Amino acid sequence: MKITENFLTPNKFSRPQIKLEKVIKIAVHYVGNPGSSAIANRNYFENQKTGGTYVSSHFIVGLDGEIIQCIPLDEWSYCTNQANGYSISIECCHPDSTGKFNEKTEASLAELCAYLLKKFGLSSEDIIRHYDVTKKQCPLYWSPTKYQSAEVANGRFSAFKERVKKLMNAEETPSEKNAAKYYVQVGAFLSKTNAEAYLATVKKDYPGAFIKVL
Ligand SMILES: [Zn+2]
Repeated sequence: MKITENFLTPNKFSRPQIKLEKVIKIAVHYVGNPGSSAIANRNYFENQKTGGTYVSSHFIVGLDGEIIQCIPLDEWSYCTNQANGYSISIECCHPDSTGKFNEKTEASLAELCAYLLKKFGLSSEDIIRHYDVTKKQCPLYWSPTKYQSAEVANGRFSAFKERVKKLMNAEETPSEKNAAKYYVQVGAFLSKTNAEAYLATVKKDYPGAFIKVL
């Protein structure tokens, strides 16, 4: 995962530099501007500095999965209304008016969420939608609308949280995935005692290794 820092110029509209005292939620949004790029949305936030709308987000995930960080993690963004004081916000680009994220965007979003949740000691259940805070239909594809029932929308959101959870779990079990693997065949030793003695040596020499006795 690559995060490109492209911080906004401090200004009262999009980067007020209010200290973010705590992070207990990660809030996901859609930009609502089909086909727009991450950098275009970042520049839109930047352009508010001359006097515009109070709007910004910590991150924007683009259509190619690129991630731009607009605001440091210890400052407020103006993105999620009453949750601004306790959340990190992520805006996502989308190809069309359904608001559905493409696979590259969703994959990067999942990685970014997993990274942030770990960083702040949170779980996948701490991912929220803008919808959960204000009932705004954001992200649109994960919100109940005339096009999709609450059941369908919530199901999509739950599936995404499950994806992040799996990603976090996969990263947390290095023994299976990353560490060296040793298969000790008992039959290769004169006795089980000898095999176990050898096993103890391997465990000592390679802490964290995945060891299986066959
Ligand atoms: Zn939103």
